[in-house]
Amino acid sequence: MKYVVANWKMNPTKLLDAERLLSNIEKHLPGGTKKERIIVAAPFLFLHPLAHIANKVSLAAQNVFWEQSGAFTGEISPEMLRHLGLRYVMVGHSERRLHNLEDQKVINRKVDAALAAGLRPILAVGTTKRTVSAATVELRAQLRHVSRISPAKRARLLIAFEPLFAIGSGKPADPDYVAMAAQQIHRIIDVPVLYGGSVDDATAHEYLKQKSVAGVLVGSASLNARIFAAIVRTALKA
Ligand code: PEP
Repeated sequence: MKYVVANWKMNPTKLLDAERLLSNIEKHLPGGTKKERIIVAAPFLFLHPLAHIANKVSLAAQNVFWEQSGAFTGEISPEMLRHLGLRYVMVGHSERRLHNLEDQKVINRKVDAALAAGLRPILAVGTTKRTVSAATVELRAQLRHVSRISPAKRARLLIAFEPLFAIGSGKPADPDYVAMAAQQIHRIIDVPVLYGGSVDDATAHEYLKQKSVAGVLVGSASLNARIFAAIVRTALKA
């Protein structure tokens, strides 16, 4: 089965709604899914209560700090996530690069800290260029650091390829472009590559059928349990 990651972003605003959404997702999931392949990235605040009710999906944090403990007011460390029983953490999402001014140096430190704590980072890499050759230059810059990580640690990494023009736009990227970009990423670093950018139940198969694409990362469509479950159904067959 291929990977399906839900990125709830800063939604929902109430714990009760988050619990309902997770329960509904689990209710609609088809049989035969693998828990480690269905990942729900929920807001930090909800991770602990959701961990008590998540049976069929793995939970992920949407962000993490680059130190394990200490005088870093307001931050959450990789060790804290691990002690909560989490396995996955998203790092470097384009919204964090934009709104929180995270640069590649910070993102690299977060990946290193997450790996050091035994987590599996889902590193988001974005492109602005619409031709694969121009996009490759951007990808190389964002992947230089992780391509040098030791093979044993690198094996825990997942890459989410998310062209900036496709995220939240309602206009997913061309599947051929995505397939070729994923192949380019594999030439730089041989780890699973997921696609993210306006994926829904109508378009997921276009990406999941690509050999070079190991899964999808779903933002807004993941807030609808039926739609998210339908995407999982497609991933199960892919
Ligand atoms: C995302 O959150 O990374 C994302 C791909 O969002 P959306 O599916 O809404 O474009």
